[in-house]
Amino acid sequence: MATSEERKQRIAALVSELAEVLGDVDESLGDCWLDAVENQAIEIGDAVSVELTRQVSQRRPREKEANCPQCNQAGHYRQMRERELIGRRGPVLISEPEYFCPCCRKAFFPSDAGDRR
Ligand SMILES: [Zn+2]
Repeated sequence: MATSEERKQRIAALVSELAEVLGDVDESLGDCWLDAVENQAIEIGDAVSVELTRQVSQRRPREKEANCPQCNQAGHYRQMRERELIGRRGPVLISEPEYFCPCCRKAFFPSDAGDRR
């Protein structure tokens, strides 16, 4: 994990690159120039949040087994699955490990705490 100063510098470099790619701010997208810039920044921030969540979800460690939320027996890892969740910034596609319980003969996702069918 980078220090906060390193992180700040890295974000500034990424934003410089992004600003160059995006070009001039369309002032019609806000009540004034500042409003338009902030609207664009919010839109980009939401897109970054969605993409960061998707990428981080793919890197989460997965175990060979997880306890079934219904019978508490060991379920076996089957595959990574994608599904859409509603995050604070709107819909986000995440990857998560799917397990199969041989007792219940059902797939489950440990992150669901047993409410997935
Ligand atoms: Zn089970």
